[in-house]
Amino acid sequence: MNSKRTILVVIIAALIASFFILDLNQYLTLESLKSNQQDLAQYINANWLVAFIGYLLIYAVATALSVPGAAILTLGAGALFGFGWGLLLASFASSIGATLAFLASRFLLRDWVKNTFSKKLESIDKGIEKDGAFYLLSLRLVPIFPFFIINLVMGVTSIKTWTYYWVSQLGMLIGTAVFVNAGTQLVEINQLSDILSSDLILSFVLLGIFPILAKFILSALQQRRVYKGWKKPQKFDRNLVVIGAGSAGLVTAYIAAAIKSKVTLVERHKMGGDCLNTGCVPSKSLLHASKLAHIHHTSQNAGVTYDAPKVDFKAVMNKVHSVIKSIEPHDSVERYESLGVNVAIGSATIVSPWQVDIQTEDGVQSLTTRNIVIATGARAFVPDIPGLKDIDYLTADNLWEIQEQPKRMIVLGGGPIGCELSQAFGRLGTHVTQIERGAQVLSKEDPDAALHLQTQLEKDGIDLRLNTSAIAVETTSEGNVLLVEFAGKEERIPFDKILVAVGRQANLTGFGLEKLGIETDRTVITNDFLQTKYPNILAAGDVAGPYQFTHTASHQAWYAAVNALFRPFKIFKVDYSVIPWATFAEPEIATVGLNEVSAKQQGIEVEVTRYDIGGLDRALADDHARGFVKVLTKPGKDKILGATIVGANAGELLAEFVLAMKHGLGLNKLLGTIHIYPTMAEANKNVAGNWKRDHAPQKVLAFLERFHTWRRK
Ligand SMILES: Cc1cc2nc3c(=O)[nH]c(=O)nc-3n(C[C@H](O)[C@H](O)[C@H](O)COP(=O)(O)OP(=O)(O)OC[C@H]3O[C@@H](n4cnc5c(N)ncnc54)[C@H](O)[C@@H]3O)c2cc1C
Repeated sequence: MNSKRTILVVIIAALIASFFILDLNQYLTLESLKSNQQDLAQYINANWLVAFIGYLLIYAVATALSVPGAAILTLGAGALFGFGWGLLLASFASSIGATLAFLASRFLLRDWVKNTFSKKLESIDKGIEKDGAFYLLSLRLVPIFPFFIINLVMGVTSIKTWTYYWVSQLGMLIGTAVFVNAGTQLVEINQLSDILSSDLILSFVLLGIFPILAKFILSALQQRRVYKGWKKPQKFDRNLVVIGAGSAGLVTAYIAAAIKSKVTLVERHKMGGDCLNTGCVPSKSLLHASKLAHIHHTSQNAGVTYDAPKVDFKAVMNKVHSVIKSIEPHDSVERYESLGVNVAIGSATIVSPWQVDIQTEDGVQSLTTRNIVIATGARAFVPDIPGLKDIDYLTADNLWEIQEQPKRMIVLGGGPIGCELSQAFGRLGTHVTQIERGAQVLSKEDPDAALHLQTQLEKDGIDLRLNTSAIAVETTSEGNVLLVEFAGKEERIPFDKILVAVGRQANLTGFGLEKLGIETDRTVITNDFLQTKYPNILAAGDVAGPYQFTHTASHQAWYAAVNALFRPFKIFKVDYSVIPWATFAEPEIATVGLNEVSAKQQGIEVEVTRYDIGGLDRALADDHARGFVKVLTKPGKDKILGATIVGANAGELLAEFVLAMKHGLGLNKLLGTIHIYPTMAEANKNVAGNWKRDHAPQKVLAFLERFHTWRRK
């Protein structure tokens, strides 16, 4: 605690202590007020202004210190100054006092609460930013909530001081008026409960509910405005129409059918979307082939030698397609129909907030629906590089159709897709030049992790060019050339094929969003519940962002389905608190939560503990002794804020940290869990062990040393 805070705590404690030591309590009782009323009235008549200001100050300080007696002071204001002046006095004094208590709480507690409960407070602050005034007004209107608790609690939130002041004054006005008015009839009152009858409390409670009710009415009115001009059908063909049968759409439709709603899933291309057909599945299958092609480089360490592999590229690609084929039934029309989903193969267009037209081979089918989920995914982003669009460039979307292995290939982009595919093609024997504009590959990852991958890519023979920009593609008589710029110098790199992997852009156009005025930027703009400006039209997956993974698409799908089908009774905010991901090149890099760079960017203090996989028994036995586990914790605590694993099976190993973070398990719990020997998973326990060793209680250990020395005597 800094000195200013200490001084304030001492002053507050001294004032509260004096209140009780001097027994000022005795003056703040109904009896005392009644018996002193005449003397006080005489004094006030003679010194009105001094008495008014003095009373206001006493009242404000008593409220600020949260000492008991506010009710008596309010009665007193009425009894001594009459209704009008009494109300003015009590209303300002109570609001000023409440605001002082609020400011003290903010000054003393907010930083501590922010550091200790950062995630929770962040979401509360978001709510306060949006609806704080409404909630405060409700709390103030109902006198059953102790005011000093409201002051303390609101102090640690981000509500603005001025908002706090005026909403408090407004909210307390009616309750204050009741007490001031009662004060004018002081002789009639024998106890405080005479003022607040149960009927009166009930009216206050109803009054308290009013702002919340008003908010709902307001939002209903807003919704009416949004839907103005659209004709709502009398009844609906479907509860839900889902557009796009990729990871997000499939799961949304599955959940909708599982909870017995009538749902149609529309797909214009291939069931399974990107992940199955052009993304996760083919890329992992190609990586598998490339790992096999690479074995001869490392197997000799174990005393086993192979001849250099002969890669039959056509057969590799055929295998990729056969893997897709073997997974296809999981996402097929038949499977989904059998689960109760009505599947329509065709192109969907949203024509009104409650109508989707589906262009099929047989014509247009129009469906009215209570809800729509947009799950139209994304496609490769192709930058505006002069000359690029004049050649047959590749992206992850059409790469899988090639049958001939490129001899010289340029991979544009150092993100996860670029790195996985560079390594895969490189190991299969293509000469790959990988171009990345930034200073490291995997810009979102821990730089140490990225460095491991960069080193491996270079070992694999990939000509990795960092800090290099693609400027133009030239078609010459000798073939295609990419003009790049590095450190102010231009260079020409000849190539046979160029793979563009510089990001994915959401599919936002051509299916009705424009006509409905649904807002988009890089993705469809949604609120925390995945709703667009039309609450019955939601979005999930790559088209909604902010992440572009299969597992986040299916995570969002649950919210999209439930929020669509149970609106307005119950809807859920999407929980993005623990999002893991991995890049499946070798070494694998898997991350959850913060890394050192993102923690710094967000101004979050962290402690970093590292375990080097180079020393792990199983990794040594398997000749995988490379990489690390890095865990970020709250300084001095075992609470995990993030983890990065680099090494074999990192994506699998990370699951333990994901579970721990999701369920609030710290490193002590991880350390106390038995891990099978010898496994790679022991790396997780060992990093927890390193953390524990750094936090060994030195004083206790020194005492134990003395204890054991004594026992030897
Ligand atoms: C090479 C590559 C590797 C990847 N590897 C991984 C990985 O290892 N792990 C991971 O988690 N993620 C990976 N991803 C990302 C992952 O594939 C996507 O995040 C995921 O597929 C997104 O699912 P989605 O449902 O949002 O979109 P999509 O899968 O793109 O599905 C959208 C569907 O909507 C259809 N559609 C669009 N418009 C209409 C319309 N008007 N009417 C009807 N249908 C329409 C499309 O045809 C498409 O089938 C990878 C991506 C790529 C490209």
